[in-house]
Amino acid sequence: MTFDTIIRHANLADDRMGVDIAISKGRIVAVEPGITAEAGEVIDAGGRLVSAPFIDIHFHMDATLSLGTPRLNRSGTLLEGIQLWGELKPLLTKEAVIERALRYCDLAVSQGLLAVRSHVDVCDERLTGVEALLEVKDLVRDYLDLQLVAFPQDGYFRSATAARNLERSLDMGVDVVGGIPHFERTMEDGRRSVTALCEIAAERGLLVDLHCDETDDPMSRHIETLAYETQRLGLQGRVAGSHLTSMHSMDNYYVSKLLPLIVEAQIHCVPNPLANIVLQGRHDTYPKRRGMMRVPELMALGVNVAYGQDSCMDPWYSFGNADMLDVAHMAVHTGHMTSPAAVKASFRAVTENAARTFGLDGYGIAPGCHADLVLLEARDTAEAVRMRANRLMVLRRGKIIAQTPPRTAKLSLAGRPDTLEPWRYAPVEASAS
Ligand SMILES: [Zn+2]
Repeated sequence: MTFDTIIRHANLADDRMGVDIAISKGRIVAVEPGITAEAGEVIDAGGRLVSAPFIDIHFHMDATLSLGTPRLNRSGTLLEGIQLWGELKPLLTKEAVIERALRYCDLAVSQGLLAVRSHVDVCDERLTGVEALLEVKDLVRDYLDLQLVAFPQDGYFRSATAARNLERSLDMGVDVVGGIPHFERTMEDGRRSVTALCEIAAERGLLVDLHCDETDDPMSRHIETLAYETQRLGLQGRVAGSHLTSMHSMDNYYVSKLLPLIVEAQIHCVPNPLANIVLQGRHDTYPKRRGMMRVPELMALGVNVAYGQDSCMDPWYSFGNADMLDVAHMAVHTGHMTSPAAVKASFRAVTENAARTFGLDGYGIAPGCHADLVLLEARDTAEAVRMRANRLMVLRRGKIIAQTPPRTAKLSLAGRPDTLEPWRYAPVEASAS
């Protein structure tokens, strides 16, 4: 028997070590140690980690790489970011949005990031972003799965045209219903927007992903309404609550009531550690709150938590590198998630958990799955997160679509080695414990 490709001596994210992965016709056909068959191409993973691709479950591709246009965010707050985006919106052209998005997707692919759920602002009467990203979705489909969320950035009720434009966008083929209840004029309008948006999704048979409670306000309670409407409309498992940062400041008693409601409604929870940590807590003195929802507590209850990047070089966040390991790294730090089990959970939050939220078919490393794979310069998931490891090779449907050379440093130190490879530095005892 001959396969198209065999990847040998791979460590997997589920802790299996030294297995071979056989690929034929773009699919994985076997995952086991010591496959004896021949292959057209043999890739030696050499005891490094091979993972299914990274997924960014929360992003804004219409804004990415726009940093500095027309100016920078001076206060660093979410609200100035929204204002700045409002200044940029009338200047957008479809061509420029497409060009930035395609450049970003190149970077994403090089980082092994092969699926992105992007919110797209529908408050621009021209729907420039929607038209542009629908085109981009088509242009990149051979190498990246792009899912779009109709996002009324200026408020579903607060913006005079958002409701109509949201429906227009869904008619044009946008996949998911978005919203921003905490930005509506009143708590009551926010509540009504959650109801209206969930009803639209129920009628159209779509998924929901709301920017929800992205504030430091401990009384912001839209997640409660989202869980309630999810149950009332039978949308269990199809709804995501993005950000939920107010949860960091909520009263503990209230949270003890809220978390079981999230479990019952099977809400997917989507923190965005990079953006949340810089946007939230800006009005605090010391001690300063950080902007993370209660991730370990949600995970402990079995809630599907998937991390998003949110932004990359745009009005809200001036950093970012399409690197979902950077996101996991930040989550590990801000959430005190440093135990081996918690680090593994954070790796899953940028891979398989996100695939579940996205609804991706054929994702994973098992016979029958798409041969979409990333070879990392790390021996296991903990090392991948610590190093934000190099993506040595990225495969899509069995074909190599990106490669990055191994990281080696040359030293000129008397009596010391000539070169070093950073990925070999972790004590072996660490992975055994
Ligand atoms: Zn967002």
